[in-house]
Amino acid sequence: MNNQYDIILAGGGAAGLSLLYHLLQSDWKDRRILLIDRERKNQNDRTWCFWEVGSSPYESIVHQQWQHMYFRSPGFSQLLNLQPYTYKMIRGIDFYQHVYQALADFPNVTVLNEEVQEMRESDGVAQVITERDTHQGAWVFSSLRDKDEVKQANGHQYLLQHFKGWEIRTHQPRFNPQEATLMDFRIDQQGDCRFMYVLPTDEQTALVEYTIFSAQLLGKDEYNQELQKYMPEYLGLTNSDYQVVHQEFGVIPMTDMTYPSEQGKRIIRIGTAGGATKASTGYTFQRIQRDSQQLVRQLTTTGKISTARFSNNRFHLFDSVLLNVMGRDIYPAGKAFADLFKNNPPARVLRFLDEDTHLGEDFAIMNSVPKMPFIKGTWFALQSKFVAASY
Ligand SMILES: Cc1cc2nc3c(=O)[nH]c(=O)nc-3n(C[C@H](O)[C@H](O)[C@H](O)COP(=O)(O)OP(=O)(O)OC[C@H]3O[C@@H](n4cnc5c(N)ncnc54)[C@H](O)[C@@H]3O)c2cc1C
Repeated sequence: MNNQYDIILAGGGAAGLSLLYHLLQSDWKDRRILLIDRERKNQNDRTWCFWEVGSSPYESIVHQQWQHMYFRSPGFSQLLNLQPYTYKMIRGIDFYQHVYQALADFPNVTVLNEEVQEMRESDGVAQVITERDTHQGAWVFSSLRDKDEVKQANGHQYLLQHFKGWEIRTHQPRFNPQEATLMDFRIDQQGDCRFMYVLPTDEQTALVEYTIFSAQLLGKDEYNQELQKYMPEYLGLTNSDYQVVHQEFGVIPMTDMTYPSEQGKRIIRIGTAGGATKASTGYTFQRIQRDSQQLVRQLTTTGKISTARFSNNRFHLFDSVLLNVMGRDIYPAGKAFADLFKNNPPARVLRFLDEDTHLGEDFAIMNSVPKMPFIKGTWFALQSKFVAASY
């Protein structure tokens, strides 16, 4: 049969394409692989930012990078030296093109633009059913989200990180492309956690992003209004000083529920659908890269995929504590992030968010925020673990 594959990637966004990219550099590069996505991925639909030490497999498409970033809040502002980390930006379109170009050398990879309608598994074979065909795979890696995901969060925090970004171009040089703003909490919090990012890519271009962590989305116009307010107040730009050349909007789940890591023994969930999104920050891109490398290692060595790839460690509890502190309005998130950056070297905070700190560093991080609110948060986090366990 023609539609039989060793690997099917259902969904070819960040996770599907990253896994494919890593597979093509492994001993499995000659296997029959099918990539299915309903979109052609020819739009610049998102910008990925992440931090790392050294270089990434995608170094050639890094659009801009910074070693110094501002943290700003009413009580504490500082230009942070991120070393040894570098904060990097990759444009979605560059990533999609980069991976698609790499595919050109691999006739064993088939790409189909079809809508996946169902996935099922029987007798050790997984099936992906699209509007046109049924495809069979020894393994399926799916980044398709469940439509009713939020319902599965019963007893857990489920916040949304929603943001609107304007890429602006000024008529005169107005930015220092060496210095970005990671978080600016000086804006009106309106009872939520709200901040701006400012990521200048040259002296006249910057991505300015209004970001909110809350349970509900805002009305469409509200994002634009807040961006429009920020320009003169904090960037000193009047309407006639700049032009909006590109816009992006996104919603990322921030939840301490455990995403199922598989949908069957042969259908493995990846990306946000598989729990790759860091619950307390929404950062996902680097976690997808780590997961992809780990999955390829497991496939090519043992041929077995481990079930607990995310959320099986103490950092899941830390995320849950912070989500409870934020979601239950126990302590303002802006203050918590200010405490973290004020009382720790920036590299320690980034390492903690990367889940790479040792216990001693975790204690230092815990000591840098006020005890009572976080004890309360821990109480609720443990309760939700207990509730989840009893379902
Ligand atoms: C605008 C935006 C900006 C972001 N910025 C950052 C950032 O700076 N840093 C960071 O770490 N994270 C960021 N994220 C979060 C995260 O990295 C991205 O959402 C990332 O794309 C998640 O990868 P994924 O593969 O899980 O999902 P996606 O990239 O969304 O891929 C899923 C794919 O599945 C396809 N698909 C869905 N349903 C079907 C179906 N039924 N049939 C066929 N195909 C289907 C979609 O077309 C899509 O291509 C951002 C998210 C958004 C939305």
